[in-house]
Amino acid sequence: QADLAMYQAKASGRNALRFFDPEMQAVVVDRARMEGDLRQALHNEELRLYYQSQVNADGCIIGVEALVRWEHPARGMVSPAEFIPLAEENNLIGPIGTWVLETACRQLARWAQSSTTEALDIAVNVSPNQFRQVGFVEEVQQILERTGADPRRLKLEVTETLLMEEVEDVRSRMETLRCMGIRFSLDDFGTGYSSLAYLKRLPLDQLKIDQSFVRDVLEDPADAAIVRTVISLAHSLELDVIAEGVETEAHRQWLFHHGCVAYQGYLFSRPCPVAELALDAH
Ligand code: C2E
Ligand code: MG
Ligand code: MG
Ligand code: MG
Repeated sequence: QADLAMYQAKASGRNALRFFDPEMQAVVVDRARMEGDLRQALHNEELRLYYQSQVNADGCIIGVEALVRWEHPARGMVSPAEFIPLAEENNLIGPIGTWVLETACRQLARWAQSSTTEALDIAVNVSPNQFRQVGFVEEVQQILERTGADPRRLKLEVTETLLMEEVEDVRSRMETLRCMGIRFSLDDFGTGYSSLAYLKRLPLDQLKIDQSFVRDVLEDPADAAIVRTVISLAHSLELDVIAEGVETEAHRQWLFHHGCVAYQGYLFSRPCPVAELALDAH
């Protein structure tokens, strides 16, 4: 890629200057270094799985979302918003996704041993590229067998992007996983471009209202209208609905008043290591 940039720089003559802008070069070098580091991250055991609680109308924890973190030796905790896209571009999403699933399933198996935690679900984010990889379904099956996790406690969070291409193939994979007991949540709902017809055709269990709509729901009538619509759409299609990014009691009350009875957000807890989860609190 560097060679190509060089070639293009030379070929474009005067514009070459742009490619040697020191600031831009620093960005490119930094990115290349991150890519190399990410390749090593799994091997060096630098990934951490954090969990954020999901609660019901009584404030009781009903499950968690697993959110990956990268503890970089020099940079500290790197956000998945930063390295997941990088992993997607560099064919690293497969192995990282596998690690996340396996770690979450091991946690489920551990929770199954105690009556206070046995009913908790874990929601795991699955990237479109990961879901479409050859052998994904078989891999999930193997991980469940290896860890002994109950598939009925596992929820996969997919995004609308996944639903835009090869719908038939995606649908049949979802069907297979659902027959095993796994459930599906449609993450960041409303931010993508998917057609409402997919909602009817795909075996979904839950809509997850994106935090960008939740954030201003109290002040912005348009956001309020969108959230109300998503909630009633979910009810009409007999899907569960959960709101993400719930930061204040006023938000929670508004959502409850409009029929949304599952919540995730800083109001209840930040994503944290499993040991810090308040599993008996409400
Ligand atoms: P997401 O799946 O939509 O996850 C929700 C994000 O919102 C998380 O950011 C979470 O920490 C943050 N959040 C939760 N509650 C609140 C709140 O009350 N207020 C605000 N402002 N933010 C809140 P995080 O952990 O940085 O993850 C960002 C994104 O990275 C995730 O968005 C997801 O798309 C992706 N991601 C995280 N872990 C994984 C993973 O294991 N695999 C894949 N493929 N993607 C992942
Ligand atoms: Mg998610
Ligand atoms: Mg989300
Ligand atoms: Mg989001």
